[in-house]
Amino acid sequence: MAYESELALHLVPYTAGEQPKDRKFIKLNTNENPFPPSPKVSEAIEGLTESLRLYPDMEATQLRYAISEQFGISPDCVFCGNGSDEVLAFAFAAFFAGKEVCSPDISYSFYPVYASLFGAALRTVPLNEDFTVCVEGLMQGKPIVLANPNAPTSLGLGKESIRRMAEHTLKAEEILLVDEAYADFAREDMTELLHDYENLLIVRTFSKSHGLAGLRVGYALGSQRLISALRCVRDSFNSYPTDRLAQAAATAAMKDSAYTAATVQKVIAAREYSRNRLLEAGIEVLESQTNFLFVRADKEDASGIQRALREEGILVRHFSSERLRPYLRVTVGTMEEMQIVTDALIHHCCPC
Ligand code: PMP
Repeated sequence: MAYESELALHLVPYTAGEQPKDRKFIKLNTNENPFPPSPKVSEAIEGLTESLRLYPDMEATQLRYAISEQFGISPDCVFCGNGSDEVLAFAFAAFFAGKEVCSPDISYSFYPVYASLFGAALRTVPLNEDFTVCVEGLMQGKPIVLANPNAPTSLGLGKESIRRMAEHTLKAEEILLVDEAYADFAREDMTELLHDYENLLIVRTFSKSHGLAGLRVGYALGSQRLISALRCVRDSFNSYPTDRLAQAAATAAMKDSAYTAATVQKVIAAREYSRNRLLEAGIEVLESQTNFLFVRADKEDASGIQRALREEGILVRHFSSERLRPYLRVTVGTMEEMQIVTDALIHHCCPC
């Protein structure tokens, strides 16, 4: 006998990037935004203390309206949760539990965790040789979940590929779940396809482009039928996943689209600056449509370089699986941070 359930005994949890407390680092290991959120955010949460004795609006009405205006869709087609991780978890429970779901073999590493938590079988499809997502392979099955742009590769698929997968899954009355955590840094986003496919669910976050990773707000966009299923799972788990402060702050951030656009542009400028310098130094870096760079830092294993950078006060992420081992995932910081980090990478990396 054991105190733990069979489920708990067999779970292999997600490992998040380090959040150091002991020392000040140039912190480029968890894809946070180097810039603070819009100044409108602090105005929005000022004076809310008294109201915290009351439970929040479980439907996050104000926030859903702000999001729906941004995307030109009905507020009934928006669902908000405690970070996009929670929204993804609800989506796995609502649409994949007890089913087989197709996903790229290299993608957001929370998907296999949610699959095992909710009793879904994840059928993984290897990425192509060049790390692009194999659309044909994914279309061997249904439903489908993928991050687009993908993590940690930073590459994005175009609208036609997403459209093909949406058509394919629609025929089988299954969903296509596109995790667009990084879409604000990409050339294209897929939200206009929502008008064409009732089986398309897009999940997004305030953690990256809005600089609000500490607030924990994510959301899903999709047809009313899909959103109702998410609400049903939420109300079977926690009726109030977004608190009063989170709703007020995220609403203000969403409305200040000029501020978001300006910070995104600064991140993209720093990203392109570093990528070009690394390429000029002969270091392979994938084309990024995200707020991070995927850098081939070593021919075989970049973990030593990650440790060396840490000694120098720079945190980046390394993944130990075979195909990812030669690479480092480097979040894009401010231009000043990226000058330092690019110099350090050029110093340590072997040109491949
Ligand atoms: N999806 C992807 C692809 C991510 O990289 C992340 C960040 N770890 C998330 C979702 C989750 O973001 P959050 O829970 O902060 O909204």
